[in-house]
Amino acid sequence: MGKVPRILSWRNMLVLSLAVNFSLILRILKGTDGGNSSYVVSIWPVVSNSLDRTVYGDSKWPVVSTTASGSSSLSSASCNYNETQEDDDRIINLKLGDPMVYERYWQEMGHMTTMVIAGWQSLSYFSDNNNELCWFLEPELAKEIVRVHKVVGNAVTQDRYIVVGTGSTQLYQAALYALSPHDDSGPINVVSAAPYYCSYPLITDCLKSGLYRWGGDAKTYKEEGPYIELVTSPNNPDGILRESMVNRSEGILIHDLAYYWPQYTPITSIADHDVMLFTASKSTGHAGMRIGWALVKDKETAKKMTEYIELNTIGVSKVSQLRVAKVLKAVSDSCGNETAKSFFEHSYDAMFERWKLLKQASKTSKGFTVPDFASQRCNFLGEVFEPQPAFAWLKCEEGIVDCEKFLREKKNILTKSGKYFGDDLSYVRYGNLNNAMIETFNHLR
Ligand code: PMP
Repeated sequence: MGKVPRILSWRNMLVLSLAVNFSLILRILKGTDGGNSSYVVSIWPVVSNSLDRTVYGDSKWPVVSTTASGSSSLSSASCNYNETQEDDDRIINLKLGDPMVYERYWQEMGHMTTMVIAGWQSLSYFSDNNNELCWFLEPELAKEIVRVHKVVGNAVTQDRYIVVGTGSTQLYQAALYALSPHDDSGPINVVSAAPYYCSYPLITDCLKSGLYRWGGDAKTYKEEGPYIELVTSPNNPDGILRESMVNRSEGILIHDLAYYWPQYTPITSIADHDVMLFTASKSTGHAGMRIGWALVKDKETAKKMTEYIELNTIGVSKVSQLRVAKVLKAVSDSCGNETAKSFFEHSYDAMFERWKLLKQASKTSKGFTVPDFASQRCNFLGEVFEPQPAFAWLKCEEGIVDCEKFLREKKNILTKSGKYFGDDLSYVRYGNLNNAMIETFNHLR
């Protein structure tokens, strides 16, 4: 054993030890609600560990300031974009669409969405004994899902079955399981028009299912017989509002409406499709809670989807469902508040600022262009605006064959190549939701 240095007497050590223990006890007490096994969950992170921030430093995104009246506004005055120039060699990773852009808003709303969940809660597998279909769906979540769709007017909920999933990723698989023929006709083809969401082919084929298989680009799909088509609207990666591409009577459609929210696109009509998938990841930015929901017209399909989730994970985390219910409630409540901006107005402003900067950068910088969108009237916000997607689908100028390589080698920005989306190398997907995205404007010049 090493000797204790002289400067630390035993008395010093005792005081130090008492101080450390006292602070530890305080920390434990702060994290509990007096009970032994309760814990407090807050929507805003105590320790933030987002990939883009820990690896690439904090963002320079405008902060949300709250006025004395309690109303909040986005201010870019506090934001010095030039500060990021000091370290131009930094590599910025925009491969993912990690929705950290809404973090500030939820920090401001912390009190509204903080929950206490006692250790005796969430013991049972079952959530709702009265729901003979999706028995693991928390009634509170079901209520808030219906309410938020009514408030926004983006999807029909009446006479629809709600199936909850661990993210819409699980619901996508549940829908494939439910909609594929379970006879011996072999795997059904699953198609989507390129550029399509890059995870679809990977998820579809990862288990080499006997029920379904990836069938490629819907634009060039020619095979006879039944098929499943994924319609992502607005689309990831390019933000375009889409309809079915193959358009044949034997097609079974799954509508992925993850981005059909007013911060990304004008809400022009109430979506009314057989299977519609939504997710907390993109609607409110709570990707880490891993909650998605499906609105399903047909009872048998909803039953089969529930069966899949039963087989796959025996239900969905109750804690996450309750947290998302609380978040959705805060969102709907904010929409009814005349004196303060709603969540969607805040998130709209955030996306608007990002697109403004991106469009400026595309004008001043040689090398890439961003898509042009048509303006439409949003029934929810009551304004005419252009889509401002969660991702930008950048096209490199002629002469640059490999856009991903160009941005990586010349601008230190990591993006996802068009090849993963069924398109060519001259395109890349650029994650607009990531906080680090703001830093790229110094690199793009
Ligand atoms: N669909 C689309 C179009 C997406 O972009 C994403 C997330 N990138 C998902 C589904 C998956 O969402 P979740 O986090 O709910 O699994």
